Amino acid sequence: MENVVYDRPRSSRNQMASHSYSRKAGAHPRMLDSSVELTNYCPPDTVETFLEELNHSQGDDLDDQETAPAPPRASSDWSTRKSLLSERWEKERACLVNTMVAQQNVTTQICQQCGISPAAVRCRDCRPQPFFCADCDVSIHRNHVFHNRDATIAGFFQPLPPTTCVVERALSQCVCIVPLEMPKKICSCSPGSLSVNTGKVVAVVTMNGRYDLSMPEMKCEACKTTWSPGVDDLVRNDYWPATLHFSTVYSTDVFYSYEELKMAAPGLSCQAFLRMLDQRTLRFGRIGKITADSFRKSFLEWEAVRFEVDKICREEHFVCPACTPDMLAVSVDGNRKHYRFKNAARSEEKALFDGIFIAKDDEVERFVDYIHSTTNHVSGRGVCGGEWSAARETSQKSSSKIDEEGLELAVCRHGVFLTALNMFRGEIYAYPLYLQNKLANTPISFFAMDVTCKYWPYLNKVTKSCPELQHLLSMKPFLSVFHAKAHDFKCEVKWSGAYQQGAGLTLGEEVEQCNAFLSRIAVTTKHMSKAGHTDMLTLMAMRWNQQKFNNLATSLACRYQKATKRLESQLQDLESMRIQLAVTQVEVEGWVTDIKEWAEATTSQKNARS
Ligand SMILES: [Zn+2]
Ligand SMILES: [Zn+2]
Ligand SMILES: [Zn+2]
Ligand SMILES: [Zn+2]
Ligand SMILES: [Zn+2]
Repeated sequence: MENVVYDRPRSSRNQMASHSYSRKAGAHPRMLDSSVELTNYCPPDTVETFLEELNHSQGDDLDDQETAPAPPRASSDWSTRKSLLSERWEKERACLVNTMVAQQNVTTQICQQCGISPAAVRCRDCRPQPFFCADCDVSIHRNHVFHNRDATIAGFFQPLPPTTCVVERALSQCVCIVPLEMPKKICSCSPGSLSVNTGKVVAVVTMNGRYDLSMPEMKCEACKTTWSPGVDDLVRNDYWPATLHFSTVYSTDVFYSYEELKMAAPGLSCQAFLRMLDQRTLRFGRIGKITADSFRKSFLEWEAVRFEVDKICREEHFVCPACTPDMLAVSVDGNRKHYRFKNAARSEEKALFDGIFIAKDDEVERFVDYIHSTTNHVSGRGVCGGEWSAARETSQKSSSKIDEEGLELAVCRHGVFLTALNMFRGEIYAYPLYLQNKLANTPISFFAMDVTCKYWPYLNKVTKSCPELQHLLSMKPFLSVFHAKAHDFKCEVKWSGAYQQGAGLTLGEEVEQCNAFLSRIAVTTKHMSKAGHTDMLTLMAMRWNQQKFNNLATSLACRYQKATKRLESQLQDLESMRIQLAVTQVEVEGWVTDIKEWAEATTSQKNARS
């Protein structure tokens, strides 16, 4: 239920509160603490402000650092400083133009290596001594094949691929060998008989684009033993093969960068990333393109191996350390952005991360069928509080152009992905039921949803026909705090997490922040094959969790501090209100019970009727 715009008609009960919410998007997030209090809280106006707030409520300082303006320094304010800076740049511009033009001028230089011959090549990667004569260039760059050089002989800087060198003031071809560690010995003959030759040509892809180089090959002249690098040699040297025959080899740095970019900009497509690398290939005077299909496959295979290594190290990707061993709250919601087109790449390949994060479709299907057949369910819409409509129960598979309709996600209160499933039938209650059942082996206190008020009676009904699910009722129902505002008032009193003993500052909306992140990936995954879709989502969820784990110490400390302050101020508020109204603690408690009973009576009547 992401992207819900909180446009609830302002009823009488929050008119008194609406003045307190006057925060503009982009304002300093620290201001929030003082402007928003739980007692007079009013739903935020847009999804952005809501998400921003959610970020903040989770004590996640990651995003804060990005948006927060620098702390005010000196006497001048931000805009004055900004215009001052621009002025200085402007003054300097004419001079910079001259420098840039002069920099392009090829002056006759002497080789900085031998100090004798005139320079023929400039290598910017060899600074502070960038100028080489033809011979020194070959002898030095034989061992630095990834350096980006320019020839100076034509009177301008001309980018050179590594396999081009200068011979007698003309460009000529030479061979370049992929830098790899080679064995000292391949046979028992004397080392003098060993020679290194050029083997097969491979395309090596680094963050600077594609290089066409040769693999090394060793040969003993005496006994004719040969050695050539295998896949294991490549992997040991931080390369990763595109296929097991490796006519293309990626530097693992490219994969790390792709993953990091993908986390920073989840909507980035693989093609866009490779186009950027292709452009770099061209800029440095090389040629050749990088194929997207093989890149994607190779990347995922690399990730699969990393995942296995993590497994050996007993790293859990979908278990929140802060929620171990007892989990306070899990929050479940559907994400409709994650549909996938039926006509998207069809392939029978199996996902590498099948069942790791997203539950296996056939298992979910079996569970849903079982529930439906045993409970003899009725279809109906989950509507509460008038226009609000979220989960609904239909058993029909939808027959549109899309395959998966979305994801149903379970997230802990720290925003860590726990598990998910592919939806095929809209948001039916059996989906959260499946996730709840799957998570039930860890002790969980609260089960948060945006339609708890409808789901819990359903769960009660289901457990009557399926007693083996009885244990699920030991969790307490929790209606997400912001969503509750859109429900009926009685419903809010009865179910809202804000009024649950022991829930603390849990909002039950943590899933929305995760949903927002996943939704940004959806632009690229909706055209992918089933396997690619599962793998990419699992991978991104894994990295998201990793970021959360790395940040956990700081964010937990922030949350603790915030909760302590909040508790103190709330207690003070209560105390002053009590004095103002001249009532005793017992009377206040009596009122609470009255309201609870009133809400209980009316909602249970309603449920009995429907
Ligand atoms: Zn020289
Ligand atoms: Zn160099
Ligand atoms: Zn030998
Ligand atoms: Zn957690
Ligand atoms: Zn409700």
